Amino acid sequence: MVKLVKQHEWNVIEDGFNKNRVRLFESIMSLGNGHMGIRGNFEEDYSGDSLRGAYIAGVYYPDKTRVGWWKNGYPEYFAKVLNSINFIGIRVKLNHQVIDLNSADVSSFRRVLNMKEGWLKRSFIITGSDGNRAEFNVKRFLSMKTKELASISYSVTPLDKDTNIEFIPYLDADVYNQDSNYDEYFWRVLHVEAAEEYGNITLKTKKLDFTVSASYSYDLFLDSEKINIEPGIIKKEKFTGNSVSMLCPKGSNFTIIKYTALSSNRYFEDNELKKELDKILLKAKNKGFCTLLYESSLEWDKIWQDSDIEIKGDIASQQGIRFNIFNLNQTYTGDDPELNIGPKGFTGEKYGGSTYWDTEAYCLPFYLSTKEEKTARNLLLYRYKQLPKAIENAKKLGLNGALYPMVTMNGEECHNEWEITFEEIHRNAAISYAIYNYVRYTNDKEYLADFGFEVLTEITRFWASRVSFSQDKQKYVILGVTGPNEYENNVNNNWYTNYMAAWNIKYTLDTAQFLKDKFPKKYAALKDLLSLTEEEMKKWLHIAENIYLPYDKENGIFLQQDGYLDKEQIKVSDIPKEELPINKHWSWDRILRSPFIKQADVLQGIYFFNDKFDMDTMRRNFDYYEPRTVHESSLSPCIYSIIASEIGRFDKAYELYLRTSRLDLDNYNKDTDDGLHITSMTGSYLSIVHGFGGFRFMEDNLSFNPYVPAKWESYSFKFLFRGRLLNMMADKKNITISLLEGRSLKLYLYGKEYKLKNDQDLVVINKINQEVNNG
Ligand code: BGC
Repeated sequence: MVKLVKQHEWNVIEDGFNKNRVRLFESIMSLGNGHMGIRGNFEEDYSGDSLRGAYIAGVYYPDKTRVGWWKNGYPEYFAKVLNSINFIGIRVKLNHQVIDLNSADVSSFRRVLNMKEGWLKRSFIITGSDGNRAEFNVKRFLSMKTKELASISYSVTPLDKDTNIEFIPYLDADVYNQDSNYDEYFWRVLHVEAAEEYGNITLKTKKLDFTVSASYSYDLFLDSEKINIEPGIIKKEKFTGNSVSMLCPKGSNFTIIKYTALSSNRYFEDNELKKELDKILLKAKNKGFCTLLYESSLEWDKIWQDSDIEIKGDIASQQGIRFNIFNLNQTYTGDDPELNIGPKGFTGEKYGGSTYWDTEAYCLPFYLSTKEEKTARNLLLYRYKQLPKAIENAKKLGLNGALYPMVTMNGEECHNEWEITFEEIHRNAAISYAIYNYVRYTNDKEYLADFGFEVLTEITRFWASRVSFSQDKQKYVILGVTGPNEYENNVNNNWYTNYMAAWNIKYTLDTAQFLKDKFPKKYAALKDLLSLTEEEMKKWLHIAENIYLPYDKENGIFLQQDGYLDKEQIKVSDIPKEELPINKHWSWDRILRSPFIKQADVLQGIYFFNDKFDMDTMRRNFDYYEPRTVHESSLSPCIYSIIASEIGRFDKAYELYLRTSRLDLDNYNKDTDDGLHITSMTGSYLSIVHGFGGFRFMEDNLSFNPYVPAKWESYSFKFLFRGRLLNMMADKKNITISLLEGRSLKLYLYGKEYKLKNDQDLVVINKINQEVNNG
């Protein structure tokens, strides 16, 4: 495999300029602060292949649906996160020649993404046609402290000769989404203002009512001295800029610091928006680049204090996990309950920036352990608020209760492939599972009374109306579904879906009983509100207890779906290497006919409910399905890695961990140029904490079963739990758990109960590594 980036504990380093990898590195070098994000585009002009992207959280467009064959029930639009004002633009001219890395003679190119402090730096040398060289140094960040703020320091040094250098800092609204269905320009320009050292552009989306505004200003320095140059003013229909130039002596350093304040009417009233941004801009300019960067890096410091994972002895693993944690924090900070986590975050257009089941199934545990409770709660409330739309959605399909959309921005379904939109209904259970997971982790049981039970009830109603009773099997069956493995469509009795539906119904009933006992008044009111009867609940119980779960006795495995074994049972190792990934080489029908599995399906269920299955059952299912899994969804390897850890396949667990955590840094699936795989980044965290660390719940307590992968010396992670901050450190001899903040607690290590106190670390022999060592 070609090594794309240099390995380093805290940095992602690109050495050398390769035009074929510009898009790929634009994804890897993305910056975000939960409020906005920008791909790693160059500030100066670039005429080569590139995907320009600057995105503002929660600002989207309902792009009219485009499909080959329209099916009744398809949504009218697909919501898209919008490519918004290009705010990083600085055109640069040397002796009146525009700098464009696509045509220039570039050398000594190096880019560093510093994850510890959250900034991106680029340096390179350009040799002009006259043989004279100039050195460029560019640094930028999006502030983690002031969410509206971005700043760039752009310096040029003529190395051989006095040179005329011109900077044109600008804002440009002539921006498009490459995935636009009808090549539409999504914006209406409301305001363009150009003045000395200042520009503003304000836009409104053509549909819906989003306003986005950006104001910029700048400072100039010659070496370290601030200078003033009377600027030219440029104003066009969608563009505002200034131009400043000077003859710079050889060896001097001409620097422009550009400040931009940018936000939307999601945070400020329309008529206040520009005014507020201008205030932020002025304040920023007064502070200057270094202070602003320092303030932002302090915020990163706090983030790392609660969520870093330190790995000793394996830089590739260390860089991988930090890259993932960094990007999860760049994408979602949890302070806005209207926001969610798009599969590509702010790093690309694919998946439209919308919400998928990924949030509940994959992301939630990361935020539960690394952020205050409110963050995970906000993710749940997002779905709670969308319940009425999920009820409408089920109604459209002729069903009761609530069916949450496969893809959504505001609760409405956006997806338009029948086999997924209508059939991939397992997503509903992930939403219930997230409630279960949240309540179990936080002990916030009131959430069930205040919000959770309504969601659980409506989802259960959906399951009750979606099952049918098979006279032949004398069981409830679920027909015509797509499981998590999207390489099988319209199958009957997907084990995962059926299992999750049965669990979901039982969980709703258990919750009803709990509320009846502990919150009787609220429960009575909820029953009333939901028109819930004992009879309906009795029917639910009958369904849950009699759902058909396909099983193959000969292999002792849960059957992925009815008829799975009719397929030719070949393995991934039988596929010629050049035909992988199969989704890029095989026709769709060939994929559907094959036994190959895109992502964890049966294994997803085993992961969620590992305490319900014995070791042999887990092993048999893992050994059967793993060799048939192509892992062509980024969500896949982490689940297999966790189960591999649990069943003692340590080398496999490590191999799959690397695949998960370095998926984008090594471009495993050859699609990172579309954007980073943000939602599966939590999978790397889970592979360590749930996999190597063996974190589970035992009754109501934390439980760990840790080991250290052979290649590592040790690892440690911090995590928050019910008002406490804990640290777990594992080396090959000992496991040390410390309580850094909060009250003492009971926990389990290797199945044995311990009491963890503030003043005393818990140190226990690393049982698993010792056993492996002793053969
Ligand atoms: C996966 C889905 C996932 C989506 C977005 C697809 O490739 O199969 O499970 O929700 O990507 O990440």
